[in-house]
Amino acid sequence: MTRSVTVRVPAKINLHLSVGDLRPDGYHDLVTVYQALDLYDEVTVTPAAEISVRTPGYPEVPTTTKNLAWKAALQLLKLTESGEGCPVAIEIDKQIPVAGGMAGGSADAAATLLACNTLWGLDLSRSRLAEIAEQLGSDVPFALAGGTAVGTGRGEKVAPVLLARHQFHWVLALADGGLSTPKVFAELDRLRAAGPVPRVGGVDEVLTALATGTPEALAATLGNDLQAAAISLNPALRRTLNAAMQEGGLAGIVSGSGPTIAILCADAESAADVAANLAGRDVCRSVRVASGPVPGAKVVDRT
Ligand code: ATP
Repeated sequence: MTRSVTVRVPAKINLHLSVGDLRPDGYHDLVTVYQALDLYDEVTVTPAAEISVRTPGYPEVPTTTKNLAWKAALQLLKLTESGEGCPVAIEIDKQIPVAGGMAGGSADAAATLLACNTLWGLDLSRSRLAEIAEQLGSDVPFALAGGTAVGTGRGEKVAPVLLARHQFHWVLALADGGLSTPKVFAELDRLRAAGPVPRVGGVDEVLTALATGTPEALAATLGNDLQAAAISLNPALRRTLNAAMQEGGLAGIVSGSGPTIAILCADAESAADVAANLAGRDVCRSVRVASGPVPGAKVVDRT
């Protein structure tokens, strides 16, 4: 009998993020292009008397029912009809920056769904898991899918970009503190109400650049409607973006709702150089190199 299951799940960045106007229901329509990067959280689930969450080293992450991994376990437990499921202790080994616009919480939820599905022998298909993921949050289905994908709706309707087979090299500049996603959307609404804010437009150019595969072509098409709002809330991000270009990045972009900056580089060597040079300047908290696309959530261990 399996006693614990570990799932590895990637962070995401958004190569393109176009945000529609505020809808009457409080949401915004999004069109986004996600890419999964080789920066991972690992989530281990073990049968226990009751659900619990541990995130060693990250006291700022809730370990209550507010944790998305907890919500995921509970959701799946409720859906198991004939008692195959059981409460689990969830341990999260975090590498994805918290509140960094890289969907760490969503990734943990996706990982927990896959881990419990495996632990309990439910054998739910990936598409059934994606339906459950959708109810947990907009970015959860992509964390299951991975790769490069177009997201529509609130980001939860995910379609793979099959032509994106090339590997891209990124530097991630992590900022001090996080940005709250709802606050960044509210700031965008405020800026748009105050006057015209340029919009990133359609997704076709990004998809064409992904098909040609050169990082230079992709760099010319990166865009994020949330960037102006993230910079308005954290003006220091502008310095990071400027420094990224001075140090040889092809293009820099706020990742999702920020404050992480994703810098596209020409190749792995250039990414290592840009990372080293940025780390020597006082423009961000820390740097990581990463590449993508990589596959989505995957079982890496079961004992
Ligand atoms: P988004 O998915 O909105 O882009 P993000 O990547 O900016 O989110 P997360 O790391 O997912 O940020 O965290 C956002 C907030 O979600 C955190 O401040 C934290 O309070 C809460 N949260 C809930 N569950 C988790 C989790 N498993 N890991 C990290 N944060 C979590």
